This record gives sequence, structure tokens and C-alpha cells, in this order.
Amino acid sequence: MGKENLAIHGGKPVRDSYLPYGKQSIDEEDIQSVISVLKSDYLTTGPKIVEFENAIANYVDAKFSVAFSSGTAALHAACFACDIGKNDEVITTPMTFAASANCILYQGATPVFADIDPQTYNISPLEIQKVISNKTKAIIPVDFTGSPAALNEILEIARNENLIVIEDAAHAFGASYNDQKIGSISDMTMFSFHPLKHITTGEGGIITTNSRTLYEKLVLFRNHGITRKKEKLIENHDPWYYEMQTLGYNYRISDIQSALGISQLKKIDRFVEIRRHYTEMYNEAFKDIKQLQVPYQDTRGSSSWHLYIIRLNTSQLTVGRKGIFEALKAENIGVNVHYIPIYYHPYYREIGYEKGLCPIAEKLYEEILTLPLFPSMSELDIKDVIHAVKKVILCFSK
Ligand SMILES: *Cc1c(COP(=O)(O)O)cnc(C)c1O
Repeated sequence: MGKENLAIHGGKPVRDSYLPYGKQSIDEEDIQSVISVLKSDYLTTGPKIVEFENAIANYVDAKFSVAFSSGTAALHAACFACDIGKNDEVITTPMTFAASANCILYQGATPVFADIDPQTYNISPLEIQKVISNKTKAIIPVDFTGSPAALNEILEIARNENLIVIEDAAHAFGASYNDQKIGSISDMTMFSFHPLKHITTGEGGIITTNSRTLYEKLVLFRNHGITRKKEKLIENHDPWYYEMQTLGYNYRISDIQSALGISQLKKIDRFVEIRRHYTEMYNEAFKDIKQLQVPYQDTRGSSSWHLYIIRLNTSQLTVGRKGIFEALKAENIGVNVHYIPIYYHPYYREIGYEKGLCPIAEKLYEEILTLPLFPSMSELDIKDVIHAVKKVILCFSK
């Protein structure tokens, strides 16, 4: 294949229309399930919420689940439920969305960033060991891109040090680890139902857990800290009496959203299967290109492939990551970068975090690109991406 004229240099783009990096898949059955709730008695606090929670708990094989208005709200509730508060430290990865650490700040505690493993891009158990102190209360590992973190090692550290593990599995719905579904392994696991995640409720999230104690705290926190359950009341005056026992929030999900979630859940295995198939197509097409590296997979984990990330070998290229990014955008390929290390953000700098904290994550950040991956794209779309990547890389190769 000779060099083609890049779109960024005035050539014809590989695609006429823009291909985003992610997108929801909504079908007629999903739409009908929402309509039927709109015609029912309950738009919120109704039966669809429990039905959705039970369906998710059943799918991941967890005893309890509590759905929330977002994955971020769910993470906040998880931090509350295990009593994370002022003077506590919580360890997480910098290579994630801001919410994984913001939830620690919401509770007045201090996020402590542990660097990633250079091969898996997930939080490194060795680095966790290095930053544990007598203030450490919990670990929030993230199953980055859908590939489970080193849960065996992390859970062992947690057992030895008496720490709680809140797994941020926003990327990993449908993934498994040691042949066990993600969602029943850590003390609490969070999934997000944002439209770019595996299944969607528009906005929404959930915590799954096997602990009844944690479950009850999550339920209380979601609804202002208010309970009506007779056996839970501290006082009991009157038939209308209910009680606010802690400062909670309105973090409820609605029945409209839950109905969409129930319908979406029916398709999860197919969604994950398509993501895995497309990933194999990418891996196969890119495996011999020395200017880039395809994602590594830990054999203990079976990824559900939320994101497909290539790592550029910039020493073999005449431009940096930004040059490749802009050239692919011009070809109408919706590339993205996941993630800017959390503590690079001005807010985190303001509260005292400095660049240089996690050099492996920082180096990775300079070299990564996320390619489009979602179930409603076609094999032809995948081939367009492959074509565009090869075209751009060839043109900028040393
Ligand atoms: C999407 C996401 C969240 C937050 O989920 P929302 O439902 O958008 O609030 C948290 N952590 C990670 C890693 C995510 O990708």
C-alpha cells in the first residue's frame, strides 16, 4: 500500500461521516419499556427500581444491589457506607475518570494516588503497598477499559491491612475475573449506566455487595438518610412517622430509567460479544505495526472492552500523539484520550497535588489514543478505523 494523501493535508477522508468513539444502542423494545412506565402509576420510587436492582444482582451473582442516579452518586454512597471520613486516606489510580477520586473528597477524606502497572495500565499492587499508611481506610481500584484490576493481590492487601475495597467497575460490566463475574468479588462494586457504558439508563449507576450492613447504609444514603421501616426507627411516635437518621442525599434513580435498564440488560451478553469480536479485529490488524502497541490482557481477567486503547511508539513517528490525534479526526474517526491523570486537573493542583506523582501513568498519558468501539458500529466501521490508523501511521512513520 502506497502513501495516501491525508485528509489533514487536503486529501479525501477515509469516512464521509464522523464515527464517534462510543454510543448507546437503543432498540424498539427499549423504547416500548420506557413508554409503558410513562403510562403507569409510578415514575419514581415504584416497582421497576427493585426489579432492575434484582436483575443486576442476579446477573453479577451478588446478594444485594442499590441503584443510584449516577455512577458517581453510587461511588459517593459507597464511601459513606464504609464510613470514609475526615482524616482517612483512600488509595486509587490516577488513570481514570475524575469521579473515582472525587467521591473520596466528597466525604472529606484524602485521595492517595498509586501508580499503574506499565503492562496492564491498572493500579499496581506494589505501588499500593508503598503508599499505605495508618490513615488508609480503603482502596478504589478501577477496572480500566473493562480489564479487571489485579483483584487477587488487592484483596489480599486489603485483608492484611484491614481495608475496604470499592471496585470502580464503570468500564467492566460483563467482565469476569478467575471465571467469576465482576460485581461479587470486592466489598462493593460500582457500575455506571451512562450512555457510553455497556448498558444505559440515560444516567444511572449501581452498587453491588454481599454485605447486608453495607446495603442498608446505601439505601439510607440514597434517600436523604430517611427511613420508614418500623424496625429501624429510633423513636416511633405516630402512624405517619418517618425519620431522618443521617445526612443523605436525593440520589434516587427513577422507574423510567430502571425500565430502560431492565430492557438493556437482556442484551448485555451480545453487546460484550460484539465488543470482543471488534477488539480481535483491531488486535489482528495492528499486531505487526511497530509504531503502536495493542492493549495487554491479564489472563486471569476476561475484559468486557469498554475502551480500545492503542499506545503510540512515538520514537518511531515523525509527529507526537497530538499529530496522530488530529490526523485521525480529519479522517472522521472519533478518537479520544482516556484519561488525563486526575491530579493534573487545576482543582487537584489547587489542593496540593503535583505533577510527577505517578510517572508511569504520566508517561502512558502522553502516548495513548482511544479508538471507536461500541456494539452498534458495523464491521465496515471497524475496517474504516483500521484503514485510517494504517494510513495515518504510514504517513508519519520514521
Ligand atoms: C463513567 C465513569 C464513572 C462515573 O459514572 P457516571 O455514571 O457518569 O457518574 C466513574 N468512574 C469511571 C472510571 C467511569 O468511566
